[in-house]
Amino acid sequence: MLKKRLFTPGPTSVPEEVLLEMAAPIMHHRTDEFIKIAAEVFENLKYIFQTKNDVFIIASSGTGAMETSVVNFLSEGDKVIVISGGKFGERFKEISLAYKLNVIPVELEWGKKLDTNIIKDLLEKNPDVKAVFGTLCETSTGTHFDIKALGEIVANYEDTILVVDTISSLGAVPCMTDEWKIDVVVTGSQKAFMLPPGLAFISVSEKALKKIETSNLPKYYFNLKKYKKTLAKNDFPFTIPVSLIVGLRKSLQIIKNIGIEKIWEEHHIRAEATRQAMISAGLKLLSESPSDAVTAVVLPEGVDGDKLVKILRTKYGMSIAGGQDHLKGKIIRISHLGWQDEFDVLTAICGVGVGLKDMGINIETEKAISAARKVLFGSSQ
Ligand SMILES: *Cc1c(COP(=O)(O)O)cnc(C)c1O
Repeated sequence: MLKKRLFTPGPTSVPEEVLLEMAAPIMHHRTDEFIKIAAEVFENLKYIFQTKNDVFIIASSGTGAMETSVVNFLSEGDKVIVISGGKFGERFKEISLAYKLNVIPVELEWGKKLDTNIIKDLLEKNPDVKAVFGTLCETSTGTHFDIKALGEIVANYEDTILVVDTISSLGAVPCMTDEWKIDVVVTGSQKAFMLPPGLAFISVSEKALKKIETSNLPKYYFNLKKYKKTLAKNDFPFTIPVSLIVGLRKSLQIIKNIGIEKIWEEHHIRAEATRQAMISAGLKLLSESPSDAVTAVVLPEGVDGDKLVKILRTKYGMSIAGGQDHLKGKIIRISHLGWQDEFDVLTAICGVGVGLKDMGINIETEKAISAARKVLFGSSQ
């Protein structure tokens, strides 16, 4: 029997109670019944985002919200700083270039953290920069970035907004949108939100809202003016995936009932257990600033990571992620996102050991499991 398990940093597992909600007959989206659900969802999103700002919902994957955050606040030829330490930082650069923005790239070695003084200096030299793009967790390397420090820097510039991709990290690690002065936060449904792919969320500060008025980049479906107008009535400009909204209501209720601080703590424990396990097994972490959302592990020289991913998926039903671009085959990534518990962590760690063994490679799996167990359940266990 093959039981399917997702340890990928998106999509992630969806709890049964959310699946059941989404299996209900489809309701029409322009009804009082649905608008009531939407109202609750919009309100609870603010809690997850830790913001008083509007949070918009768009039917797209996370990248759609990234594009939304470019086309709504900027104008032709605007100067922007794009921080990129991996695949997803690069995506912000690609979108900005597609709209012919004047990009100042800040390219970091993959897995390295950002020295925020670089951004401070760049802004002093280029006070005409209109936006700084960053990522809270760079999913391709499992790296956490200090967005709080960036918020302090960017807030000094009246005409510059801070845009942060939190697609793999909102709802998993602290993201204090208002306290950290983040103007635009974008995220997606299929990671920490415990939902299928298909919805994207974007919060917008007053400072950023003003920029919508003057932005002249082309847009239609992603025009936030349309979404702003309908949000006032807890409605949407276009047909929203009603089932996903119904599921979202449930997943937000689950998160709210547990409490977001507790959810962050649980992600931290799962991530820490995985990190300790991998180090105890004799493996290295890729990131010098590991995120609690996803752990990237460097495989021993000569081991084909993609083969390991394939064996785990086909033989054991377990999905983990491999490396992207130049890290392809060299690393594996294990997600801690969303609907997981302590025993899932042990399963994933054991899976890596078993899969490698199938490839003829021995790691210290027993030591790894023991190290993880101590973090998860305390040293008396
Ligand atoms: C998953 C992810 C994306 C891409 O999201 P899609 O939903 O696949 O469009 C972008 N940024 C980060 C940090 C991600 O983890």
